[in-house]
Amino acid sequence: MTFMPAYGAAVKKRLFTPGPTPIPESVLLKMSEPIIHHRNPEFQEILTRMHDNLKYLFQTDHPVVALTCSGTGGVEATFVSLFSPGDTIISVNNGKFGERWVRMPRTFGLEVEEIAIPWGSAPTVEQILDALKRRPEAKAVYLTQSETSTGTATDVKAIAAAVNEEYDALVCVDGISAVGAMELRFDEWGIDVCITGSQKGLMVPPGLAFVAVSARAIAAMERSTMPRFYLDLGRALKSYKANDTPWTPAITLLIGVDVSLRLIREEGLEKVWERHTRLSNAVRAGVSGMGLRLFSQNPSNAVTAVWMPEGIDWKAFNRVLKHDHGITIAGGQDSFAGKLFRISHLGYYDDLDVIAVISAIEKSFVACGYQFEVGSGLSSAQALLV
Ligand SMILES: *Cc1c(COP(=O)(O)O)cnc(C)c1O
Repeated sequence: MTFMPAYGAAVKKRLFTPGPTPIPESVLLKMSEPIIHHRNPEFQEILTRMHDNLKYLFQTDHPVVALTCSGTGGVEATFVSLFSPGDTIISVNNGKFGERWVRMPRTFGLEVEEIAIPWGSAPTVEQILDALKRRPEAKAVYLTQSETSTGTATDVKAIAAAVNEEYDALVCVDGISAVGAMELRFDEWGIDVCITGSQKGLMVPPGLAFVAVSARAIAAMERSTMPRFYLDLGRALKSYKANDTPWTPAITLLIGVDVSLRLIREEGLEKVWERHTRLSNAVRAGVSGMGLRLFSQNPSNAVTAVWMPEGIDWKAFNRVLKHDHGITIAGGQDSFAGKLFRISHLGYYDDLDVIAVISAIEKSFVACGYQFEVGSGLSSAQALLV
């Protein structure tokens, strides 16, 4: 079987990574306009509308504060703004990001009760409640709704309900790759803190974090004695109330987010979630149809992690994907480097993007010598897209 050679400069570049994600043309165009000043009324108007649409995105009536930093900075802002040195928090490590939310708070002198579970699995309600039984003094439970490194979803709704029934611990959610991709209802589910970043479901370049805070989280901020300055959520919240920002924000990115939020609102949040469900189902069917195995026990709708087939070299496969087909996907992280590949379907994607990535993966596997029935992945994906 032979395939077309590379088309050189005519190879279209397509990004299938779970951050940064592709950017809609209308967002790119708006961001290319001459910059405006962040203290003029035109910008305040943008902030006011963006704040309102962020509430819609998180399904909350509480403030959602924008910070100029990547998603990690948004999570750091919560550790330094809500707690005091010596406080205990519970943190779930089921992947690269969960692991970060164990290590980072320790840096700030927090006591961390780690719930370590195998990567690719999600924490159960029982595991969370057991940890709270061991550490009833815990001030918060940190969860990652979509663990991007393993493509695993956590049932935030069930865990938040169980925690809230018996404990006062704040329910804090790394929603960085979940917000805009998976159902999340901040108020209804009883979440206290949820963070996202601009370069994920929001379809804007990296550089902004967004943090939703409940009334209980705001009360915790008032008690916190942790040293902080730039990432002080309390200060950001004070400016937020005046439709302002404490420092020069990433103006251009905020303008982009204003457009992307309007796109989300126009499509309808539930429709956006449904689209992610549809596309993730098609991607899973596509790779399974080629005879590959999914990595996660509980797959996320933002990104699909897949075991590399036996005997096929990840680097060679990735090289063909990139060079011949212009497709960038993500590899495995840490001990799974070279063993997994990850396809993102987070943000600005449609049915034909899924067909493109599955087709390119099939072609690249053929080039690398993986034996399977050509077209089997494509037909399995297509069956879910008609
Ligand atoms: C991308 C990501 C992060 C890190 O965000 P940065 O913007 O790279 O700092 C954290 N958690 C999850 C789940 C992510 O997907």
